[in-house]
Amino acid sequence: MSTETTDFKIEFSDRLKALPPYLFVEIDKAKRAAIAEGRDIINLGVGDPDQRTHQPIIDALKTASEDVNNHHYPFDAGVPQLRIEIAQWFKKRFGVELDPPTEIYPLIGSKEGIAHLPLGIINPGDKVVLTEPAYPAYQAAVTFADGKIQYLPLKAGNGWLPRIEDIEALKNVKAIFVCYPNNPTAAIANKKFYEQLVAVCKAKGIIIVSDLAYSEVYYDGIKPPSILEVKGAKDIAIEFHSFSKTYYMTGWRLGWACGNPTLVAALAKVKSNCDSGVFNAIQLAGIAALNMDTQDIDDMRLEYQNRRDALINGLRSIGWKIDPPQAAFYVWAKIPSKFSDSMSCAKAFLDQADIVVTPGNGFGKSGEGYVRMSLTLPIERIHQAVERLKKIL
Ligand SMILES: *Cc1c(COP(=O)(O)O)cnc(C)c1O
Repeated sequence: MSTETTDFKIEFSDRLKALPPYLFVEIDKAKRAAIAEGRDIINLGVGDPDQRTHQPIIDALKTASEDVNNHHYPFDAGVPQLRIEIAQWFKKRFGVELDPPTEIYPLIGSKEGIAHLPLGIINPGDKVVLTEPAYPAYQAAVTFADGKIQYLPLKAGNGWLPRIEDIEALKNVKAIFVCYPNNPTAAIANKKFYEQLVAVCKAKGIIIVSDLAYSEVYYDGIKPPSILEVKGAKDIAIEFHSFSKTYYMTGWRLGWACGNPTLVAALAKVKSNCDSGVFNAIQLAGIAALNMDTQDIDDMRLEYQNRRDALINGLRSIGWKIDPPQAAFYVWAKIPSKFSDSMSCAKAFLDQADIVVTPGNGFGKSGEGYVRMSLTLPIERIHQAVERLKKIL
């Protein structure tokens, strides 16, 4: 064996190095230390439902996993019946017709599709507009495809929606990402906003990527629309859907992309070179999910709505006034005035009240001055969190 030393050094790619620093490092470290000390941490930081997946879905997986026909590589486009059932669900929920073979594609969770799509449509240096604050996966996806990100800051005053004038003023943009109901702001978009967005993007030749992961997590009966409800949207838009939040299936990894057939085909071609699809048994479990008793989904909404009201009313009673979200399971709150920024607020909550919240600036510059609190904890824990905050606010 050679004992020769060399200066050969393994390094991450420039692409990986170009990712912005992970802003939650500090708070994550402090949280782990607190848990290691045995402190009873109330974690309002997680974006993952606390409930167990519904039994009919688990049963469908059990049965499907016993069938040897499901033990082989799934076909790229998946079990045809899943796409047919998605089309039926879509028609019923949004009134939109989708062609199962060309306008729907199953994904290993919607994040996987979001990560792969830019590789199929973005050339190096192409400009992609991301609104911020935003779900961090978009910037990584665009960076990996060597796209150039232009950030469009969102403001509370405009309901955390991009201004159509600002999009009108953009030059040489290939694509824009939007997400409503939004993570982290919980903002919602109405159909009128989507009509304006589609009109301006069509005029300017901008592809629209819509992330509708929270389509079924809404309150007060206000159903979030799909951008595909807009006439002509299918000419320029692709939309990402997920089983994760609707059916408590985050760990199962199942979602789909739908919309413009060329965009769907681009994503499919990237995927066929990266993965070999979703385990058939999980696709069959997805069919069971789509056909579940809708009462279970109503119960989910009611549970989050009760938690939301407990948190909002509780915090209001101790002097912290926050607008209740109309969708998603996040409360996006302006920090109390005694704190100078998102991070110092989050640190104080952890140090003094054993509560974890997510600092808003971790989602983008415009999130500074806000924190995000998740409703993915039992209501008793939410009451406890309010009690603890009463002592420090
Ligand atoms: C949770 C979430 C997703 C869903 O991710 P999956 O990969 O389908 O689990 C997508 N977008 C946003 C904004 C989310 O919060």
